[in-house]
Amino acid sequence: MSEYNFREVEKKWQDRWENEPNFRAVDFHPTKPKYYMLYEFPNTSGTLHMGHLKGTVPSDALARYKRFKGYNVLFPIGGDSFGLPAENAAIKYGTNPKQFVQDGMKKILDSFKKLGLSFDWTRTFCTSDPDYYKWTQWIFLQLFKNGKAYKQKGHVNFCKTCKTVLSNEDSQGGKCDRCGNDVIQVDRDVWFLKMKEYSEKLLKNIDNIQMADNLKEAQRNWIGKSEGVELSMPVVDENGVELSQVKIFTTCIETVYGITYVVLAPEHSLVDSLKDKIENMDEVLKYKEKTALKSEFDRISQVKDKSGCKLCGLYAINPLNNKKVPLYLGDYVLGNYGTGAVMAVPAHDQRDYEFAKEHNIEIVQVIDGDISNQAVEKLEYISKNSKMLNSDKFSGLSVLDAKKQITDLIVKNGFGRVQINYKMQDWPFNRQRYWGEPFPVVFCDKCGIVPLDEKDLPLLLPETNDYLPNEMGDSPLSKIESFVHTKCPKCGGDARRETDTMPNWAGSSWYWLRYCDPHNPNALADIEKLKYWGSVDCYTGGTEHITRHVLYAFFWQNFLYEIGVAPSRDPFIRKMGSGLILDDEGKKMSKSSKNGVSALTVVEKYGADVTRMHIQFLAGYEDNCMWTFNGIDGIVNFLDRVWKLQDIVRDDGVSDKHAYALNTLIKKVSEDYENLKLNTAISACMIFIKTIKEDGYITRQELKDFLICLNPLAPHITSEIYERVFGGDIANETFPEVDESKLVLSEIEIPVQVNGKLKGVLKVSKDTTQDEILSLAKTNIEALKNVDTIKKVIFVPGKIFNVIV
Ligand SMILES: [Zn+2]
Ligand SMILES: [Zn+2]
Repeated sequence: MSEYNFREVEKKWQDRWENEPNFRAVDFHPTKPKYYMLYEFPNTSGTLHMGHLKGTVPSDALARYKRFKGYNVLFPIGGDSFGLPAENAAIKYGTNPKQFVQDGMKKILDSFKKLGLSFDWTRTFCTSDPDYYKWTQWIFLQLFKNGKAYKQKGHVNFCKTCKTVLSNEDSQGGKCDRCGNDVIQVDRDVWFLKMKEYSEKLLKNIDNIQMADNLKEAQRNWIGKSEGVELSMPVVDENGVELSQVKIFTTCIETVYGITYVVLAPEHSLVDSLKDKIENMDEVLKYKEKTALKSEFDRISQVKDKSGCKLCGLYAINPLNNKKVPLYLGDYVLGNYGTGAVMAVPAHDQRDYEFAKEHNIEIVQVIDGDISNQAVEKLEYISKNSKMLNSDKFSGLSVLDAKKQITDLIVKNGFGRVQINYKMQDWPFNRQRYWGEPFPVVFCDKCGIVPLDEKDLPLLLPETNDYLPNEMGDSPLSKIESFVHTKCPKCGGDARRETDTMPNWAGSSWYWLRYCDPHNPNALADIEKLKYWGSVDCYTGGTEHITRHVLYAFFWQNFLYEIGVAPSRDPFIRKMGSGLILDDEGKKMSKSSKNGVSALTVVEKYGADVTRMHIQFLAGYEDNCMWTFNGIDGIVNFLDRVWKLQDIVRDDGVSDKHAYALNTLIKKVSEDYENLKLNTAISACMIFIKTIKEDGYITRQELKDFLICLNPLAPHITSEIYERVFGGDIANETFPEVDESKLVLSEIEIPVQVNGKLKGVLKVSKDTTQDEILSLAKTNIEALKNVDTIKKVIFVPGKIFNVIV
């Protein structure tokens, strides 16, 4: 047997797989059921990193496994190419982003080929391809025409370094997701998509999808649904004359009798409308200015900061007990969340408690507990279902009863209404940058915002050499006169184009649909094809985008379903988040990390099969793991043994001796591929090979079944051995069925005891009776050979065979 030359063999199969008909998805396959396997497409920054290795290989293994199981598998790949990396390269090196993206895409796809990934290469595209972004623009037009996109002055997150508006999703933790710098708040003209309106539908998507509970929880928290009461409180002057009303939203209406002040967001409209009645307007304006300098994140997260500013001369009336309480501005209340005003109950909210102490405000306890040092908060009083105090006719009731009855009273008397609130906001949908989809609308002085005619799509991104926003933070497109000035499609008069571009999440919000029909010039995809491929059966990728990309995907799919161009509301049936590869400092390994090992170097040194298996053997799909070369030799040795199986192949059939081992293997790897647990699938293959090595032979049938079992993990070497031993292509095989009857060992080992002491072990067929075992024992176990009288036999099948003499 010649040595295994992975360089030659892997190249040979990779070349062949470029055109492998078995890896092509067939629209409307007449017999096979469909399986849509989607790997989250990579950014086309051009380098293969360890994260790609960890994420792609299990997806490839599952795709290969499903093909063996008789499915018509769609396993496509493309590139997410608008946005940051191309833009930064353009600014830094003056490169043309288009060229940068093309080069990057070629590089990453070549790397994927070197891993032996079985993508359907005929369906590839990038989000910055005009044929693709034509349809991203088309979707925006539909959103606009259906009232789901609007332009408005907005209080938005802005990164001074990137000179761009960021969504809340993109500025989590108060830091710019792109450059890591602090985000500030500014007023700008912003395109918003009405994502908030879809909150309930998104929650339904989360219920429907198969996904880890912690990921679902993160999404639900992001949407932040809360049920409570919206209470209207009259606002009065010193003399009790009603001037206005303020609405507060609370999820703790049970504490309503404990209100001792009310806090408004500094941007609340009352401040302006009642400015003549506010006695300390100078102080109020100063406080407002100070607030504007803080980011939203700082405002809600600086728990220790108890800053506030009293609105002198104004009071709120609690409609339940007619109590007159002071009004304050507090920057921890946000104008865009709920009503922009909250009731304050210092006895039962720690923040209010500290604020009240600081500003010397009355504290009224309305629920039982010790408030001498701190508030008795909801978690505590609800879990104990404590008694109500100082709450008029509700005093003495338990909290849970009171909550219901107080709500009923408020609704009945018209003091307020039951209300559901969501933390998630509408999606700010524009950036002042060059490398993105241009908006297909114009501004006309006569007609307002006018959408382009659909036949004029795509609106191409114009060429330029100047990729920097201007000092005002306007997009580079605003400097291109020939682009800016155009005619209004409605009245034919002069008009200006929108010069902002769409955010980099736009193109990834619908790409799984395009794979179903990637070259269609007349629709985003043919609806019959979309119905055939349906929802993505398994979507793999990182977990870092779970509250962004995946929520945006739910949103667009719902909208596209509602206008009849998507087949269902649920884009994905199952989402699996891959763990990270960490470097030896425990940091995420990426191309920028200092300790990073280049993924391709490992492939070049050890080959794709070894690399694929080694990285999967380090940890399960969803688990993080540390990169190490330790153990890679074990994989090399294992595949060497597999190669040498060719030397010990015997006659046909499955030997009884190996039937148990083989069926155990088939059962185990089938489950593991379905669950992307490649580490335990590898263990199962190793255990099987150990059995074979001990016996020194493998039959042809056993070898064939084993190669198919291992193929999803190590496709090159198994394809090669198959071709050499059986002729033909393993890709045409079907996965071996488990013979359940063989999952029970036919031969069992019985430890034989004499007077309770172990004297030997017998190998017998599993159906052997007690008498048969005894006669075998008499002839084979030394200690029983010369015994005349046997007093008793204690036999517990599978456990004990004890002979008392
Ligand atoms: Zn930034
Ligand atoms: Zn016009």
